[in-house]
Amino acid sequence: MFDLENIIRPNIKLLNPYSSAREEYQGNAEILLDANESPYPTGLNRYPDPYQSQLKQKISQLKGVAVSNIFVGNGSDEVIDLLFRAFCKPEVDKAYLFTPTYGMYEVSAQINNIKIVTIPLTSEFELPSIDVIRNSIKSKGLLFICSPNNPTGNTYSLSSVSKIAQSFDGLVVLDEAYIDFSNATSGISLLAKIPNLVVIQTMSKAYGLAGLRLGLGYAHDNIINVLNKIKPPYNINTLSQAKGLEALDKVELQKKKVSEIISQRERLFNSLNELSCTIKVYPSHGNFLLATFREPQIIIDKLRSLGIIIRDRRSQITNGLRISIGSPKENTKLINILKELCP
Ligand SMILES: *Cc1c(COP(=O)(O)O)cnc(C)c1O
Repeated sequence: MFDLENIIRPNIKLLNPYSSAREEYQGNAEILLDANESPYPTGLNRYPDPYQSQLKQKISQLKGVAVSNIFVGNGSDEVIDLLFRAFCKPEVDKAYLFTPTYGMYEVSAQINNIKIVTIPLTSEFELPSIDVIRNSIKSKGLLFICSPNNPTGNTYSLSSVSKIAQSFDGLVVLDEAYIDFSNATSGISLLAKIPNLVVIQTMSKAYGLAGLRLGLGYAHDNIINVLNKIKPPYNINTLSQAKGLEALDKVELQKKKVSEIISQRERLFNSLNELSCTIKVYPSHGNFLLATFREPQIIIDKLRSLGIIIRDRRSQITNGLRISIGSPKENTKLINILKELCP
């Protein structure tokens, strides 16, 4: 049985969190002499809101999730790291990964001195059967499901996610960094029923704000409370909070860009499929395509010599290269070069 109390690291349970000046005083004061800030306005002379209330209220409205179920991190990478620090005991618990997948899970696990258990996806990059998954799980910890998966581009059903969560006494982290490029339903809809689920999303991809570093976590209050207790007090700076809020006020614009990227993805998929140098192009629900090439090194070198960088994924997938969807003009250039190289 899942019990959050059982998976919180003992030192975190005992932790008496830092209480910032801005946290202890809430209200409207005219004179702030509590935080050793400069009184001279620079636009940024005050510390940011430690709990990002405005930003969370906006996210709450858009996603239909209560503010108390939202966590904002300095990129999803911070959310992942904090989950390890809070809910995974070094040398005891493990990180379970369905491979190939996003590389940061493993790096973050290693930084936190957590051993990894890899469970290979099938040859078509689907999840293995629930029995195989159950047999691989030998301890508590964090189990990552990336859907749509980076770098393979496919999504997994929410019923598989629920089944896995029900078979696990640790936390299931459902990474939906690319969900806006798919027509899949978000795992946020499962939160009410599944106490050990954390859904993470990001403003780095579909919102075009990778430089801002805004990652979002959705989970039950008791999980969010622990993350709030251990996060750096001012983890989201004033500019990021303001810009994030601004972007969320213009959701229509973001949706337009996303649909353009999706139609460019279909175009690039078809073009790559027609080339003589591709072995297989995988259908994708992300803003990228995975393809296997007969001679990937030639492709990488040729493109690089012409100033185009793509992602070499051969360490994970034999002959596999990942290509992000660019602007229509960039995609045209890419397609023309490849057509010339291998018509
Ligand atoms: C890009 C990406 C992220 C985003 O990370 P940020 O730290 O929010 O920029 C998260 N998960 C996956 C699988 C990604 O590919």
